[in-house]
Amino acid sequence: MILKLIMPFIFFSLISALRKYVQSGLSKHNIRQRKGENMILCQKCGTYVHESIIHKKSGRKFCSKRCSNL
Ligand SMILES: [Zn+2]
Repeated sequence: MILKLIMPFIFFSLISALRKYVQSGLSKHNIRQRKGENMILCQKCGTYVHESIIHKKSGRKFCSKRCSNL
C-alpha cells in the first residue's frame, strides 16, 4: 500500500531529474555549436564560408576545391 502511494512521487522526481539532465546536455551542446560557427574568408574569391566546409591548401583557406586549385 505504502509503495503504491510513493511510486508516483518517485516517478515524478525521476522524470524531472531526467528533464534537467537533458536540458543541461542540450544547452552545453548549443554552446559547443556556437563556438564552432566561425566564418572563414576565402582567400581566392572573398566569400565567407563555414569553417566546417572550408578547403585548406598550403596553410591557406578556400571556400571550395575550385578556389584552392586556382
Ligand atoms: Zn572561393
